[in-house]
Amino acid sequence: MTQAMTEAGDTLFNEARGGITIDGLTFTRYGDDRLREECGVFGIFNHQDAAAITALGLHALQHRGQEASGIVSYDGRKFHSERRMGLVGDNFSKARVLERLKGRMAIGHNRYSTTGDPLIRNVQPLFCDIDTGGFAVAHNGNLTNALTIRRELISSGAICHSTSDTEVILHLLSRSKKRRTVERLIDAIRQVEGSYALVCLTNDMMIGARDPIGIRPLVIGRLGPSYVLASETCALDIVGAEFVREVENGEVVVITDDGLESHRPFPKRAARPCIFEYIYFSRPDSIVGGRTVYEIRKQMGVQLAREAAADADVIVPIPDSGVPAAIGFSRESGIPFELGIIRNHYVGRTFIEPEQRIRQLGVKLKHSANSSVIRGNRVVLIDDSVVRGTTSKKIVQLIRDAGAKEVHMRISSPPITHPDFYGIDTPSKRDLLAANMDLEGMRAFMEADSLAFLSVNGIYRSIGVDARDDRNPQFTDHCFTGDYPTELTDQSGESPPRQLSLLAEVG
Ligand code: AMP
Repeated sequence: MTQAMTEAGDTLFNEARGGITIDGLTFTRYGDDRLREECGVFGIFNHQDAAAITALGLHALQHRGQEASGIVSYDGRKFHSERRMGLVGDNFSKARVLERLKGRMAIGHNRYSTTGDPLIRNVQPLFCDIDTGGFAVAHNGNLTNALTIRRELISSGAICHSTSDTEVILHLLSRSKKRRTVERLIDAIRQVEGSYALVCLTNDMMIGARDPIGIRPLVIGRLGPSYVLASETCALDIVGAEFVREVENGEVVVITDDGLESHRPFPKRAARPCIFEYIYFSRPDSIVGGRTVYEIRKQMGVQLAREAAADADVIVPIPDSGVPAAIGFSRESGIPFELGIIRNHYVGRTFIEPEQRIRQLGVKLKHSANSSVIRGNRVVLIDDSVVRGTTSKKIVQLIRDAGAKEVHMRISSPPITHPDFYGIDTPSKRDLLAANMDLEGMRAFMEADSLAFLSVNGIYRSIGVDARDDRNPQFTDHCFTGDYPTELTDQSGESPPRQLSLLAEVG
C-alpha cells in the first residue's frame, strides 16, 4: 500500500549557501561537520487533539533541542507533516498549522544541531513510503556506525535525502525481507550501533524503541485511553498524562488499538543510561530512573561541598544549570545561597550558538552580575559542567568586575575529557578544556582563585549508587572516563569522519 503525504510546512532553508570556514573548520553547504543529534521525541496514539498535544509535549522538551521541530500525523487516510526551523512555540502554536496535522495519532521531534548549515531535510520526523505503508520516525541519539552503513547503502545504489544518521534506519527497514513493519524495524535496529530512543508512526501503530543499553531516555504515559511516548516525564506533565514506566533498555513497544505489546529483540543486558541526563540534559522536574533530576542535582552539590569545601561568604549558581547544585552546596556548607548572577531568559542556551565568537558574545548577553551580593565578598561559583571553559572564564571575569574579593569555581561533575558520540554535543578532544589541561591549567585559564570538580564516584553517590562498578559500570559515563559502552565503528578508520561533511565523506 502506498500513502500520500502532504508537506505543506517544508521550506528550503539555506541550502543554496556555499561552504564557510569558521575558526579553521570548514562547514560545507551540506551541513554539519559530523553527525550530531541531541533531541527530544514525543508521540501520542488515539487522541482527538493528537497534533496539539504533540506540540505541547515538544514545547516541554524544548531544552533538548531548539534548532528545529517537526510533527507527523496520520488521519486514517493520509500522513501529514510540518517541519520547521525554530522554536515549537513560534511554529506550532497557530491553529492553522495544527489544523493541517489531522488525525488521532501524531509523533514529533525537537532537533538540536550545533555547527554548519541547518537543513530542513534533516528535520525530523523523517518519513518514508515502503511496501508495508508509510513510516515516520523521530530519533533521539546518535548511531555510531551510520556513516559506515550509509557508504554501503550508497554503493549498492541507495539515494539518501538527508545528512541525518536516522535515515539509515529507514533504508534498512525498507530493505528488510520481513513481512511485518515491527519485524522490519527490529531487523533494522539490530544492524545499527550507538544510541537511540525512537518514536515511530505507521498507519495503525505507534512504536517506541530504546537501544540495548538504554543510553537515551524514553518513557510511557497514559492520557485517558491514549498512550504517550516521550523523552522525559516533564512532557507527560504538561499534557496531564500519567507516568506508566520507562521503555526498558533493548525494548520495543508497539501501541495499537489493542493496547501495548512489548518485544525484547536483543539478548538481555544491564542498562547503562547516560549519566549526563542527570548532570545537564534532562529538565530538573523530570523523573529519571525513579528519582527527580532536581533532587539528584542538589545532592551533587552536597557531595561537592564534602569533597571540595571553600572558605567563602556566598554561594552563587551560574543560572540556570548550576542552581540545584548550588542549593545543595549551600545547605551542606552552611554558606548562604545568593542569586549573584541574573540570567536573561530571552537568549538561547550559550551552547546553541554554533560558532565560538557568537558563543562568547552569548555569555555576555545572557548573564549579568548582581553586584549587591558580590561586592567585597568571597564567592563560590557553581556550574554543572565545563566543556570548552568559555562560560566559566567569562563568568569569573564578570564576578571579579562586580567587586568580588575571591572567586572559587566549583563544578558539580567531573572534568569532561572525552567527546560524546551518543547524541550529546561535546566537541572534539581538541576543544574540550579538560582534555588539554590539568586542574591547575584550567584554574589559570579561568583566572579563578581555586577550582574543583566533583569526582566520578561523587556523581554515582549523588544518584544513589555507592560507587562505580568498574567492571560493569551502572551508567554511560565515557565523557569522564573514556569508557565507551558500544562499538564506535565510524571512528575506527584511519581518519575518523567527525570533521568531514557526510556527503563529502561519501564522495
Ligand atoms: P563551556 O562554556 O563550553 O565550558 O560550556 C559549559 C556550559 O555549557 C555549562 O554552563 C553547561 O551547563 C553547559 N553545557 C554543558 N554541556 C552542554 C551540552 N551538551 N549542550 C549545551 N550546553 C551544555
